[in-house]
Amino acid sequence: MKLSTLCVHAGQLKDEKYGGMVSPVYISSAFDYLGYAENQYPRYNNTPNQRSVAQKLAALEGAEAALVYGSGMAAIMSALLSQLKTGDHLVVQNDIYGGTHHALSKEFSRLGIQYTFVYSLEVAEFEKAIRPETKVIYIETPSNPLLKVIDLKAIADLASDRGLISMIDNTFASPVNQQPHEFGIDLVMHSATKYLGGHSDLCAGAVTGSAALISAVHDRGVNFGGSLNARDCSLLERSLKTLNLRVRQQTSNALEIARWLEGRPEIDSVYYPGLESHPQYQLAREQMKAAGAMLSFDLKGDATSFQKRLKLIQPAISLGGVESTITSPVKTSHAKMSDEERQRVGIGENLLRLSVGIEDVDDLKTDLAQALDA
Ligand SMILES: *Cc1c(COP(=O)(O)O)cnc(C)c1O
Repeated sequence: MKLSTLCVHAGQLKDEKYGGMVSPVYISSAFDYLGYAENQYPRYNNTPNQRSVAQKLAALEGAEAALVYGSGMAAIMSALLSQLKTGDHLVVQNDIYGGTHHALSKEFSRLGIQYTFVYSLEVAEFEKAIRPETKVIYIETPSNPLLKVIDLKAIADLASDRGLISMIDNTFASPVNQQPHEFGIDLVMHSATKYLGGHSDLCAGAVTGSAALISAVHDRGVNFGGSLNARDCSLLERSLKTLNLRVRQQTSNALEIARWLEGRPEIDSVYYPGLESHPQYQLAREQMKAAGAMLSFDLKGDATSFQKRLKLIQPAISLGGVESTITSPVKTSHAKMSDEERQRVGIGENLLRLSVGIEDVDDLKTDLAQALDA
């Protein structure tokens, strides 16, 4: 079945008792164990609503299995630590979500897990960073906040040639715009707080992959405790039914806004993989279904006063909601980075990151125009 059908139907629990059309929500944290083969408990990630939403997520990413978590970071850390232990080494793209960057810097050194940040998008540079102790290659594409694109197939091939596990944070693209397992990536992670949830009202995470790899993530995750409760599983399931509709509308709005911003004299550069001016435009076309709904731009004027002039687009942390939001990476996601480091990566003082929503695109342009004109 195609994605829009899977969004609605995959993993759905049948309401045998009353014939209701939606999955019943089983909020129990205590389950009978004598009559069942497996002990069910929320932290074991095996209750009916956890399983059902995980099954939908696996279907959407084209994976054998999936797990849901209480946040994106719980999913990412459970996945990473399922493959890495003291003495091991990780090769990781430098342009990743600030929280993941922070977690590696703060936790991995303490645990005796080594890592090398790769500043380049060239796969040869990832290869150079591999050591005998390397176990995992970790990437995020398109990246935050400059929407850089990395070759999924080349990374997956490099990992499998060298006997390593490849992992990607697929939050920005969502499975609507990019399905990394198709290219051979082993584990796909999401902050489901963003597009998968899509309404800025829940915090969750997800991991998808082969049954064997997901079983290893499961075994670690049980000990870290980051489980998702039944009510939020149900909320996530409801949100996923409209994922394809929402993200397609957001993506089409984003492309139109990116093209329009490129023509505005108040703006220096627009970063969006769907623009021909983007350095990896061709690669994005090959590995993405469409370029997604996140874009960034360098404003010639002051970014803070510009954000305050916006009336419809909200300055807000987080992304991927049905409402358009904007952030200044130097003040939010990359605030902890030193000035030097930001310069090295290319994050300017007046860089703005826009998460485009499902509003009418003309209303969004009108709002941006009045804030730019002023
Ligand atoms: C938000 C985000 C995360 C972290 O997810 P939480 O749900 O906040 O734990 C990870 N990766 C990316 C790309 C994100 O945007």
